[in-house]
This record gives sequence, structure tokens and C-alpha cells, in this order.
Amino acid sequence: MITRHFAISVTSPGTILRRERDLGTPLGLEADEISKQGGLVPDDIIVRLIEDWLNLHGQDGFVFDGFPRTVRQAERLNELLEKKGKTLDLAIWLDVSEKTVRDRIAGRLQCRRCGFTTSLTSACFAERSICPYCDGPLIRREDDDASVLQTRLAEFKSKTEPLLSFYEESDALHRIDGNRDREAVFADISALIEERK
Ligand SMILES: [Zn+2]
Repeated sequence: MITRHFAISVTSPGTILRRERDLGTPLGLEADEISKQGGLVPDDIIVRLIEDWLNLHGQDGFVFDGFPRTVRQAERLNELLEKKGKTLDLAIWLDVSEKTVRDRIAGRLQCRRCGFTTSLTSACFAERSICPYCDGPLIRREDDDASVLQTRLAEFKSKTEPLLSFYEESDALHRIDGNRDREAVFADISALIEERK
């Protein structure tokens, strides 16, 4: 939605890694094995991939979805941006309850090609399992099994939650209630981006 509305390039480590996996690169296969078991891919691999992406796409702004996910990644991102003479305008923290997480994962579909995510209950996509943006196949993600969820939540608590205090020290951090529907959340995020244009 951000890409379409503001023409800002968006990526996530997941999108980059899935492409590497589909290409069958050693890095892609190694990372795939780790995330299948619910673990986090090592920081150094993620940061290297993000840096490559930024060199190709980051000229007119960028959005990272699910990155940084550890304090180490955030520190490396700061170094990277400093090197490029760029600053971080916004760090958006989407607050969601564990119930919301469970409900959404239960019905999540994702485009294997571009990473677009939707849900089984989204009426306009229910009749066909094809991505509206790239015509790629929409599939259930393999790491969406309930057995893997506990590991992911524990990883989140120990490794990702400390990012709140990391970014609270800068003016970039904004917390948004992510338990609402996609339009309400996007309206809040849009307002923040508009303020900084
Ligand atoms: Zn797609």
C-alpha cells in the first residue's frame, strides 16, 4: 500500500530471502532451513542482503518491513545510513496482541513471487489464488505452522522487543495500534509519511 500510494520502494528480509531460495543460492538455502525451524536468520546475512538491495533501490527513499529485527541489525543499519549520508525518518512499531497474531496467521496467504500478503477471508481474493500485483501463486507459508509460532514469539520477545527502547531514544519511533483493519492502520501510517514529505 505504501509503494502504490507514495511510490516508495519497499522490501523485507523475507522477500529477499525467498528470492535467494528460489534461485537456489547457498545463502538462500541455508537461511530457508533456519527460518523453517522458526529461528532468525543471522544478522550478518540479513544486513548484507539489505545493503545490496539499498545500493540498487534506495535512491528515492525506502521502507523496510520487518527490518531491523534485532538491536545488532539496527546498529548496523545506522552505520550503513551514515555511510550513505541518509537518516531514518520513521520507525513504525505496530502493536498487536497475541490473539491478533494467531488469527491472522491462521488465514494468511502470501505471493511466492513478490511477497504480497493477504488473507483467506479477503473477499476479493478468495475466488482465485493468484497475486493481484504480479500474477504469482498465493500459498500458505510453510513457517506458519502453530508449532513454529511459539518459537517465533519467544524470539520476538528476547531479540526484537529491545528495539523499542533503542528507537525511543530517537524521534523516529511511532507506535500504532495494529489490531485494527488494514485501512485504519494505513491511514495512520500515511499521515506520518505525509508530515515528512
Ligand atoms: Zn505477487
